[in-house]
Amino acid sequence: MDLRFTGDPPTDAEREAVDRVLGAAAPVDPQLRVAGADRGRRDLLLPALHALQDRVGWISRGGLDYVCGRLSVAPAEAYGVASFYDLFALEPRGSTRIVHACVDIACAVAGGPVEGEASPCLGLCEHAPAALIVEAGELPSASPVRDGEWDAAWSVPQRGEAGLVLLARAGVVDPSSLASYEAHGGYDALRKAFEIGAPAVVDEVVRSGLVGRGGAAFPTGRKWQAVAAHPSTPHYLVANADESEPGPFKDRVLIENDPFSLVEAMTIAGFATGCEKGYVYVRGEYPIAWMRLATAIDAARAAGYLGDDILGQGVRFDIEMRKGAGAYICGEETALFNSIEGYRGEPRSKPPFPVDVGLFGKPTVANNVETLANVLPIVLHGGDAFARVGSGTSTGTKLFCVSGHVGRGGVYEVPFGPTLREVIELAGGIGGTGRLQAVLLGGVAGRFVGPEALDTPLTFEGARSIGASLGSGVILPLDDSVDLRPLLVRIAGFFRHESCGQCVPCRVGTVRQQEALVRLTRGGDAKRELGLLDEVGRCMRDASICGLGQTAYDAIDSALRRFRPFGGADA
Ligand code: SF4
Repeated sequence: MDLRFTGDPPTDAEREAVDRVLGAAAPVDPQLRVAGADRGRRDLLLPALHALQDRVGWISRGGLDYVCGRLSVAPAEAYGVASFYDLFALEPRGSTRIVHACVDIACAVAGGPVEGEASPCLGLCEHAPAALIVEAGELPSASPVRDGEWDAAWSVPQRGEAGLVLLARAGVVDPSSLASYEAHGGYDALRKAFEIGAPAVVDEVVRSGLVGRGGAAFPTGRKWQAVAAHPSTPHYLVANADESEPGPFKDRVLIENDPFSLVEAMTIAGFATGCEKGYVYVRGEYPIAWMRLATAIDAARAAGYLGDDILGQGVRFDIEMRKGAGAYICGEETALFNSIEGYRGEPRSKPPFPVDVGLFGKPTVANNVETLANVLPIVLHGGDAFARVGSGTSTGTKLFCVSGHVGRGGVYEVPFGPTLREVIELAGGIGGTGRLQAVLLGGVAGRFVGPEALDTPLTFEGARSIGASLGSGVILPLDDSVDLRPLLVRIAGFFRHESCGQCVPCRVGTVRQQEALVRLTRGGDAKRELGLLDEVGRCMRDASICGLGQTAYDAIDSALRRFRPFGGADA
C-alpha cells in the first residue's frame, strides 16, 4: 500500500465527521497539503479515527488523508496507528452493522460464542455469552447483546446491602442524575478535601495504605506524593478504565452505576496532586459506561464541579475523555499514554516512571477506576479508618469479578480477608456440575488453582502465599466438565493477538507458545512440547519489556503443572 497522500478526497460524510472532532478546517495549502491549524494536536488522532469509523464503518484512504492533513501527521504514521487497533477497519466490511462476538473464557464456558465476528473478551462476563453490536452512520450506536437485564440488579447482586462502600450507590442512585448523586453523599468528599487542603488529602491517602487495584498493587499515596512534589509542570491525571483482559468487568460496572463518583474522585486527585487536566481512557467496548460518564462530566461541569473555579475555591480542573479501540495492551499505563498522544499503544521502557515522565512527558498520576473510587471514603472518613478495614497490608475493601461456573456471576465487594471459598459461596457456590475443577484467579495474567486453594484468604499476602496474585480481581471457577486444553490454547491466542510486537521475546514467544499448545492438543510429543513451552515461557518472563510478555505464560504454566492436561512430564 502506498502510504503517502494519495489525493483521494474524503466524502462529505467523512469530512463532516472529522470536522466535528477537530473543528471547521482552515483552508488547506494545495502544495503542502496541510492546513497547519491543528499542528500539535496529534492527541486528537484517535478521536478523529473513531469519528471516521463511527460515521462510515471503516477508515478509507480519503478519510485518513483528510485527518492527516488536518493534524499534520504523515499518512504512514496514521496508518500505523489505525492498524494497531482491533475496532478499526481499514477495508470496507460490506455492512455498517458489525456484531462482535466474544470468544474468551467466560463466554466459552457459558456456551458461546454467539454469532458474529470473533472478538477477544468484551468485558461483559457476567452476561456471558456476550456480543457487542456496532452500527456506523449519522447516529452511530453500540449496544451489548446480553443475557439478562442491563442494570445494577444484574451486575451487582449485593446492591442495596448494608456495609458496601464502593458499590454503596450501585443500583441505588440514578446514574444519570447529579441531584440523585448529591442526595446520596455525592460531592461531600470534594468539599472535605477543599476544607483540609491538598497536602492533607495526600497524607490521608498515604495513611490509608491504599494500593492500586489494576493489578500492580503499587502504593497510591507514594505516586500522589511524587507527582504533588514534582517541580516540572503541568501535571496530568489519567484514570485508566481500559480493563481489557478476559475476566475483569468491575470498572465498567462502577462507571455504569456510579459515574459521578469517578468524576468526583478524579477532581480530588487532581486537586491533591496539582493537576489541572485529567484524562479518562475508557475501553472502546464499553458504550454504556462511555455514555453515562460523558453525561456525568457534562453535568458536573455545568454545576461548577469542574472548570476554572470549582465551587468558588479557585481550583481549576477538567476532564477529557478518550475512547480505546480494542487493544488490551493500552491498559498498560505507558501504552495508554502513547494511545492518548496519538501513537501506537506500545509500552515505554521504565524508568523513567510516569510520576516523572508520563503523559506528554510530564509528571503523571495514573490510577485505575477502582483505585480512585477508594479515594472518596478515604477523604470522608480518614486514612486511619480505611486502614482498619481489611487484613494486614491489604487495606479497605476489594471488588471481585466472579464469572464462569458459579451460581450468580457479578461484581462482589468484600473487605480484604475472606477465603476464596467464601467469596465463591457469596456468589452462589459452584455452578455447572457443582464439582470444582479449577479456579482462574487474577485473570489470564494470574494463575489456575485447584480446590486445595479454596481456603486461601483473598489478600495480597494470601494470594502470594500460594504463588498466585489477585491481579485485577478475577475469580473464574471451572467445573469438572471443562476441558482445559482448548482454554489454554485460547489464552495463548489472546496473548499472541494482544502482544504489541515491540519486543522479540513476547512477539515471537507468544506465537511459539500457542503453536506448541496446538500441537499438544493434536497429540504432539508431550515431553518435547512441554519442554519448549517452559523454555519459551521463562524467556518471556525474564526478557519482555512489559507485564503482558512477563505474565503471558503464568496461567498456562500453572495449569500445566497443577492439572497436567496433556499428561506427560512435568512442565
Ligand atoms: Fe509489547 Fe509484549 Fe513487549 Fe509488552 S512484552 S512491549 S506487549 S511485545
